[in-house]
Amino acid sequence: MQEKFDLHCHSTASDGALSPKEVVQRAKQQGVTSLALTDHDTINGQKEAAKTAQSNNIKFIPGIEISTTWENKCFHIVGLNIDPTNTTLTSGIKKLQDLRTERAIKIAQKLEKKRVPNAYEAVVKAANGGMITRSHFADFLYSEHYVSSRQQAFDRYLGKGKSAFVSTIWADLPKAIDWIIQAGGVAVVAHPLRYNLTASWLKRFLSSFKEVGGQGIEVVTGRSSPEEIRRTLQYAKQYELAASVGSDFHTPDNQWVELGRLAPLPDSIKPVWELFG
Ligand code: AMP
Ligand code: MN
Ligand code: MN
Ligand code: MN
Repeated sequence: MQEKFDLHCHSTASDGALSPKEVVQRAKQQGVTSLALTDHDTINGQKEAAKTAQSNNIKFIPGIEISTTWENKCFHIVGLNIDPTNTTLTSGIKKLQDLRTERAIKIAQKLEKKRVPNAYEAVVKAANGGMITRSHFADFLYSEHYVSSRQQAFDRYLGKGKSAFVSTIWADLPKAIDWIIQAGGVAVVAHPLRYNLTASWLKRFLSSFKEVGGQGIEVVTGRSSPEEIRRTLQYAKQYELAASVGSDFHTPDNQWVELGRLAPLPDSIKPVWELFG
């Protein structure tokens, strides 16, 4: 059987539409043979996903996507092959979970000033115990017809510098990488071309990331063009990072992103799974 890796996706434990069980079942249907569930700042979906993977004969790699701040900019770091019960990791992310609640309250207050009431109650309900993310606010703004698309919710309210944006200092980059390493995992830069950075800033970031123990970079993501894959491959080689592949699947409603639907990884680079013990 041909191997198919997908090492980045989301469930209802954060901003995904499917439960951990449903994510794994869908991955199986899509022919994925190795899956990592990487919810934002939480490991809460891991147990259910691992159990479902076992009964569906999929290899499960425990994962997480940690929100970090470096030089005042937000970067997402995927931790792969972690021990989700490691207490350094779980106590580290606890602070981020509290920060997410505090931020959600502030976002709702800003929305209220823009004549959008009741957002906090709505996102708490929608998140249903999972992490509250800006996606939940976007869904609320869209379903209540304040905007005509989720993208417009980011463009008008939630995006950086917009009226309901709350600047947040997430985990310190070296600390987050240390939590991942302490938990036996491999730290990977998520979607490196999605930070709106100049090449020189991105290179500075990758250099720091490597220096503090980062080992991988996503070379192929759900919507990568051939040109983007070439560019990211260059960065992987320049900074001697192993290559990861991950769709960043959130919902079946997005026809452009599907579990396991990924361009092939160029064979001139070391795949990140060779680093899993
Ligand atoms: P948060 O981590 O709470 O700031 O939420 C970030 C999440 O919102 C990301 O993981 C995406 O799922 C989603 N997101 C961020 N920016 C956009 C955007 N411009 N359009 C649509 N979704 C976005
Ligand atoms: Mn997300
Ligand atoms: Mn991300
Ligand atoms: Mn993601």
